[in-house]
Formats: sequence, structure tokens, C-alpha cells
Amino acid sequence: MAQPNVTAVLDKKEWNLEDIVFLLSLKDEADIDALFAKAAEVKEKYVGKIVYYRGLIEYSNICKKDCYYCGIRCGNTGAHRYQMTEEEVIEAALSAYRYRYGSVVIQSGERDDKQFISAINRMVKTIKEKSEGKLGITLSVGEHTEETYRQFHENGAHRFLLRIETTNRDLYSRLHPEDHSYDQRVECLKRLQRAGYQTGTGVMIGLPFQTMEDLARDLLFFKEIDIDMVGMGPYIEHEKTPLYEEKDKLMTKQERFDLALRMIAILRIMMKDINIAAATALQAIDPAGREKGLKVGANVIMPNLTPTKYRPDYTLYEDKPCLDEDAGQCRACLDRRIKAAGDEIGYDQWGDSKHFYNRTKNKR
Ligand code: SAH
Repeated sequence: MAQPNVTAVLDKKEWNLEDIVFLLSLKDEADIDALFAKAAEVKEKYVGKIVYYRGLIEYSNICKKDCYYCGIRCGNTGAHRYQMTEEEVIEAALSAYRYRYGSVVIQSGERDDKQFISAINRMVKTIKEKSEGKLGITLSVGEHTEETYRQFHENGAHRFLLRIETTNRDLYSRLHPEDHSYDQRVECLKRLQRAGYQTGTGVMIGLPFQTMEDLARDLLFFKEIDIDMVGMGPYIEHEKTPLYEEKDKLMTKQERFDLALRMIAILRIMMKDINIAAATALQAIDPAGREKGLKVGANVIMPNLTPTKYRPDYTLYEDKPCLDEDAGQCRACLDRRIKAAGDEIGYDQWGDSKHFYNRTKNKR
């Protein structure tokens, strides 16, 4: 059978698994450029050439999970553990407000004890009050009961990120200890949607044992659960993790990077009005990685607002960028990079997912 040609596939209204695998596997530069051009066109038409900032606050690297790929897993006894004080988190959030970032993300290692939950509730509430309701708040603090998610929401968090990591169950179980449940994670995404959040998920790209078909299914999963936001980036090995043993099975970092760009481009065409983040892990491989993400469909960037003294400890993977730049330097550097990539910056705006409004407008 003749290979389909890229234009014919790009012109189709809906893609099936085969189409997506075909696009992920493109080799010819001109074909890849055609995919990227289409993604850029869709981005401009549906979400505009505006990039929204989320100031990222890495609250704590204390984690009860033991994911085999992650540098802050509880099993990594060599990691120096920290937790920002609530005042530091609030100060970082207010600096986002002063920088006109429009919104913040509070991210953390996973815990579900009472102290942790109350601290998150208090911080969300205070940030809302002190910014007079103007700062948008996204949480990325792991798996919780529906009631806890509802509390966070009532206190003012309106977006939540919880990556599914991979939708291949077998792969999921090779990447996590037995008590980490794939079904539970999917259930949490549904709880978040029921609790009224703009809900985000994502996967790592280029994991050992991961196939093109797995990645294509990841994209179909985002569509099936009707997600509002996606953050996905290349998997980057970390020496102090069990998955490091499989490093010989990995694609090169450049290949993982290229594949991540394609995933972003394909997703933008599949889900035209969602928010897609240009993940920090892109920049860990290529200094201009996030801008390249913006060019092929991403529309959100998360500048780091974690105080520099804590940053080296939030090491999810090797070569995490910007460890020594303070927030002010980060902002100047980013502004320059984004303008160079041809986008505008959505200062002072929450930059909500248009998809969320389209998805819920009949219910409100
Ligand atoms: N565990 C928290 C969030 C902190 S980790 C939660 O899920 O709520 C944030 C994300 O970093 C993870 O979801 C994972 O996708 C990514 N990550 C972890 N280790 C990584 C690695 N080695 N390479 C690339 N990304 C990684």
C-alpha cells in the first residue's frame, strides 16, 4: 500500500491512531515543516499569537511518592528536602502580580496529610485576598479526594494540573511502584473536572519502552477526556533514580526534543482551543526550547518564581535550567525570547483555556 502523503493527512477532519503515528514518525524536513506550519496557523486562528505567563512556585520537594523517573521521589535519600514558608510563597505570588504575570502555579511534591492540605488552602486564600482577586491560581499538588479539590477551588484555585505521565497501563506500572494507581490518577482528573476546575494533564515523551503508538494514544486520551490544558515535555533521565538503569534504551535527547515538538504541533491541530504549555524540560535540552514550542502551537510559559536558594533542590531531572537566575532576570530574558519568537505577552491576564468556556458554556 502506498504511504499516505502528509498534505492528505493534514487535511483530514479527524485523525485516527494510524494518522497520528504517521505524523509522529515523519522523517522528511519539508513534511515536518508542513505539520508545524499548520499548527502555527491553527494556534493563530483559535487562541491568537498571545503567550500567557504562569509564575511557577515550587513550594516543596517533600514527596510521598516514589516514581522511578523523578529526582524528588521519596526513595532518593540523597535529595535535600525543603518546604517554603507560607510567607515566602505569598511573597513569590505577589511578585508575579507585580511582574504583571496574571497568574501563578503552586507546584509541589505530593502529600495528602492534613497539614499540607490546610497550608495549601491558607496560601490560596491569602493570595486571592492580597491580590484583590486579580491573580489567577493554578495548583499542581497531586492526588486528593474530591472534597479536598472542592475546598481548594472554593478558596480560589481555578485551574489544576495533574499529569497522567503515560496512558499505557503497562508502561505506567513499569514507571511506578505497585501502589501507584493509574486508575486513581484518571479518577482524580474526573474529580477535578466535576469540582469545576480548568483541568490540565500531560505526559513525558521519549520514556524508555515508550512507542509512537503509546504517544498517539496519549493524544487521543486528552481528546477523549476533553482536557482543557496540556503540559508535556521530554523525559530527561536523573542519575539518582531507578529508571536511570534504562538509559541505554533511550532516544538521544535531541530526538526526544524533536518528538516533543511534534506532539505539541499535533495536539494543537487536534484540540484547537486548549492551552498548551511549553514545558521547562524543553529548555533543559535546547536553550531556545520553549520558544520553539511556542512556534509550533504552545501558548503558555511558566517562568520560575521559586526563590533561588531552593531551586537546586527541586531537581526533577538533570540540567534543569535557570537555577541561578532570580525572577527579575528570568522575566527580562523571557520577554526578549518571546518577542523574538513573534508572539505577544498577555500581561495581567489569567489566560484561561478557551476550551473550558466552550466546553462548559451550555452548563453555566
Ligand atoms: N508530583 C506532582 C508534581 C511535581 S512533578 C504532581 O503530579 O502533582 C511535575 C512533573 O514533572 C511530573 O508530573 C512529571 O511529568 C515531570 N517529571 C518528573 N520527573 C521527570 C523527568 N525525569 N523528566 C521529565 N519530566 C519529569
